[in-house]
Amino acid sequence: MPLSCAQCEDDTQELYRRGLCERCYLAVRLRALLDDGTGTVREDLRAFVDGLVAMPDPISGQKWSTRPHVQRMLRTLATYPGPISHEVITELERSATGDPWRSCVTC
Ligand SMILES: [Zn+2]
Repeated sequence: MPLSCAQCEDDTQELYRRGLCERCYLAVRLRALLDDGTGTVREDLRAFVDGLVAMPDPISGQKWSTRPHVQRMLRTLATYPGPISHEVITELERSATGDPWRSCVTC
């Protein structure tokens, strides 16, 4: 009998890590990177996290989220002292062209 994901209880796919499927593990990872210091993701970034978690290939999201410059951007966004705008994102992603970042934020 296949094991089910500890979070979504899906038992139709292989578990990825820590008893979670790929998608749930990506969600945990992104929420940790975007933790604003209170153990949660700030309100104006929650749709962004949801959009990334819903991507067709969560493994791509995993790989993207392990890149050092992406992790720096996410941590900066998590505690950015003001509303997140496209100008803020443009400034932060200057060296990160070609990432799924922009398309996920603007969709
Ligand atoms: Zn799951």
